[in-house]
Amino acid sequence: MIIFLALLSVLLPVAYGSQGDSFAFFQDCATFCRRDHDCPEFKFGYAWTTSPCFQCRQNCVFETVRTFEAYGWPIPQFFGKWPFASIAFDIGPLPIVIQEPASVVFSLLNLWAVTVLHQKINDDIDDDYRLKGVWLNYARIGYLVWIASAVFHARDFWLTEYLDYFAACGVVFYAFFAAVSFTLPVLQSNIKAIKIWLTFAALLLGTYLFHVASLLLSMDYGHNMTLCIGLSIITAVIYTLWAVREILQGRNRPSITILFKILGVGLGAALFEVLDFPPIFWTFDAHSLFHAATIPTPLLLAQFAIAEADYEAKAKKHHAI
Ligand SMILES: [Zn+2]
Repeated sequence: MIIFLALLSVLLPVAYGSQGDSFAFFQDCATFCRRDHDCPEFKFGYAWTTSPCFQCRQNCVFETVRTFEAYGWPIPQFFGKWPFASIAFDIGPLPIVIQEPASVVFSLLNLWAVTVLHQKINDDIDDDYRLKGVWLNYARIGYLVWIASAVFHARDFWLTEYLDYFAACGVVFYAFFAAVSFTLPVLQSNIKAIKIWLTFAALLLGTYLFHVASLLLSMDYGHNMTLCIGLSIITAVIYTLWAVREILQGRNRPSITILFKILGVGLGAALFEVLDFPPIFWTFDAHSLFHAATIPTPLLLAQFAIAEADYEAKAKKHHAI
């Protein structure tokens, strides 16, 4: 489900030193930006996302790109990112900078899809369904993830990058929790089981917070990526095993097809992150298309959650008769 959305958003700028930014011309050009506009030494300082510094660095980026093109060299990356046609202007004292417009727009469309998920779970699932709160919290975390993603792709500096990473990893942890909660209804069956369930949730939250704290002390992109991808794969395996068991036991139903669609969308989206190419029209890179590909996920998840809640309600009624 939203599993993979975060999954690969964690993959993005893994490498910081790139061919473009280590090119002597670019380095000299950036030095002039620092001198002329008082831009920071630190490459990911906030001021680099404000319009004079950003526009100055953008000019350096595209002049470097033109040099590479003139020599017939492949388009270089800068600080782990491709060159993008960005939007930068001032409204009075307010600098408007949108560094990667396509990723921002697609993140906002994902945010919209999460509002649909939230609304549908709220409206179409009975309050006494065992997982209503779990799915609602999924949507709430989805808001944080997509706001963090939109802000990060609009203004990339150290804080927005951390928030995007932490939110993305947070939803990976939560997706794992939701998968366990969904596939093990016994956890919600009586007070003692609910206590075990809550303990499991607390342990998982503690692990997540420990992970975030360790990243804050020392950002390790490789470790973060391994953990989040590993957990996402486990989550996908849990759902797959559950679906296979349901089918083998003669309980195939339309919601299982929806679940496979969700897993398929996740996998398809993941492929965009594996592919890495310079932005088409300096706008659509593989990462932005990865964000575009996950837009249907919350909509499908809403269908799945509602169908399963209905199925369980009917099964209970049938059992009662
Ligand atoms: Zn992203």
